[in-house]
Formats: sequence, C-alpha cells, structure tokens
Amino acid sequence: MKLSELYKKQKPGLSFEIFPPKRDSFLSDIEPTLEIMADLKPDYIGITFGAGGSVANNKTIEIARLIKEKYHVEPMVHMTCLNYNKKDIDEYATMMVEYGIDNCLALRGDRREGEAPKRDFAYASELTAYLKSKWDFCIAGGCYPEGHPECGSRKKDMDNLKKKVDAGDELLISQLFLDNEFFYDFKKGLDERGINIPVTPGIMPVINSAQFEKMSTLCGASIPARFRRIMDRYEDRPDALFDAGLYYMTSQVIDLIASGTDGIHLYTMNRPSVAKRLAEAIRTIVP
Ligand code: FAD
Repeated sequence: MKLSELYKKQKPGLSFEIFPPKRDSFLSDIEPTLEIMADLKPDYIGITFGAGGSVANNKTIEIARLIKEKYHVEPMVHMTCLNYNKKDIDEYATMMVEYGIDNCLALRGDRREGEAPKRDFAYASELTAYLKSKWDFCIAGGCYPEGHPECGSRKKDMDNLKKKVDAGDELLISQLFLDNEFFYDFKKGLDERGINIPVTPGIMPVINSAQFEKMSTLCGASIPARFRRIMDRYEDRPDALFDAGLYYMTSQVIDLIASGTDGIHLYTMNRPSVAKRLAEAIRTIVP
C-alpha cells in the first residue's frame, strides 16, 4: 500500500527506521529484530540504503521483501542517487515492482571521499522526478528542520525542498533534532512556501556518548542545555544514560504528538528495546 494513501486514511502513529546488517552477514541476522518490531505494529518500516557497490547486491530490497511478505508490515526502501546512474535506478525500481514494494525514500546521498559522483543525478529532486516519470511509486523525501549541513542558509534549504515537493515527493521525513522548536519553526517555513504534504519528524534517542559525538558532528543537530546536562551527568554510567536518553526522547515525542504532527518516525538503530520502550510509553497517547 502506498503511504500517501495511508496518510489520507488515518493520522499515522509510529514508524521505524532500520539499517541492513553488514555486507558479510546473513539476512537472517536481522530477523529477531524484525520480529519484535513487527509485533509493535508500526505503520511502516523504512530500510536505509548503504550507498556503494551494485544495487542488486544491496540488502535493502531483500529486507523490504521480508518485512512485507513474512511480517506483513509496509516497507519503505531508501535509495540514493549521487553515485548511481539511470541504469542502476532502473534495476532497483524493477526489483521494487517485482517484490510489490510501493514506497521509496528518494535521497541524494552523501559525497563519498575519493569517489567522483556519477553524472545522471545531482539532487534528490532529480531522482524523484525520474522515478515519477517511469513508475507508480509513492515517493518520500528527506528534510532538515535545522537546515541541511551543506546549505549555508536554512531559508535557502527550504526553497530547495520546495523543488523536491514540486518534483513529486508526497511526504517528508525529517532528520533528527533535539529541540522541537526547530521543527515547529520549520513547519511554519513550509506553510509559507505552500508545502502542505505530511511531514513526519524523525526522532532518535541518544543513549551512549560515542553516538552523541558522531551525531552532533555528522548531522549538525543543535544540543539544548537541558540535553547537555544529561550527557555530562551520565556519560560514565551507560545504564543511566540509556534511560535518561529514552526519557528525553519520550518527552520530545509526547510534545510533538500533542502539537498534531503527522506521526513519529523512530530511528531505532536496530535496537528493538528502543522501539519497545517508546511504543509502551506512548501506547495511550498515539491512537
Ligand atoms: P537533496 O535534497 O538533494 O539536498 C542536498 C543539498 O543540496 C541541500 O543542501 C539542498 O539545500 C541542496 N539542493 C537541493 N536541490 C538544489 C538545487 N536545485 N540547487 C541547489 N542546491 C540544491 N543517506 C544514505 O546514504 N542512505 C540512507 O538510507 C539515508 N537515509 C536518510 C533518511 C532521512 C530521513 C534523511 C533526512 C537523510 C537520509 N540520508 C541517507 C542522508 C542523506 O543522503 C544526506 O543528508 C544527503 O547529504 C542529502 O540528501 P537529500 O536527499 O536531502 O539531498
């Protein structure tokens, strides 16, 4: 089922994002994780795409097929385009059709050190337009409440986002953020630009200090003082940090739901315990 139809029918609740197991591991390695996550009955599960290598060898599509056929949850495959050409995208889309996968998060992807990008696509909007011109998928796009790190101006980044929506994106999923005010302000900016498709906030609990360092440098999320106090206080106590990180995220999620967001997309980091704790905490809050 296309997610655009689901969003029309009901206010979405919870969706999850997972990443495929490492290249040399087995597909079955992820099954225990999927089993627990599917039991929580998410609206859909997004599967990230690790750019590099041939699209046929990428496990994203196979996992999506497993999620759909064995666990009966709607999958959304991610796809990046900077390092691929139209032929690769055709191959990926053909596999999507073969496995009955209706939803794709169309992304540009990050520049890879020492590798010149291919020439067919420069931006995600071009991938969206290409997919829309040939197939009947529901296409989602990524968005950045604090602005994309490469774009000097947050306003300009929102103008660029409009190009993606005009190209055919039917819903948006955001990069993680730790201060909801960025998201609310971002939504205002989208309203001003006439962007009125569903925008689902992407939320990740920060539950260990290595992940915290990586996250703040990679995606440039601002660190609120309230959050920094938690990190400073519990960084040497992993169990306490895990709990504190989950509580912080849960209060963020409750505030977002109260403001009427289009669902919550949880970056699970393939940790069923994270998905389970959040789902339990908001059971009576999300319909
Ligand atoms: P774009 O929308 O193309 O934007 C990239 C930059 O170009 C921005 O700065 C934008 O302002 C600018 N821009 C866009 N259009 C124009 C234009 N016409 N003219 C000038 N400038 C323009 N990466 C992976 O490798 N695999 C994944 O599975 C993955 N999943 C993700 C899931 C989500 C929800 C998000 C938010 C990101 C994900 N990423 C993933 C990361 C993503 O690939 C990077 O953030 C990448 O740097 C940008 O991708 P994009 O699709 O947002 O790019």
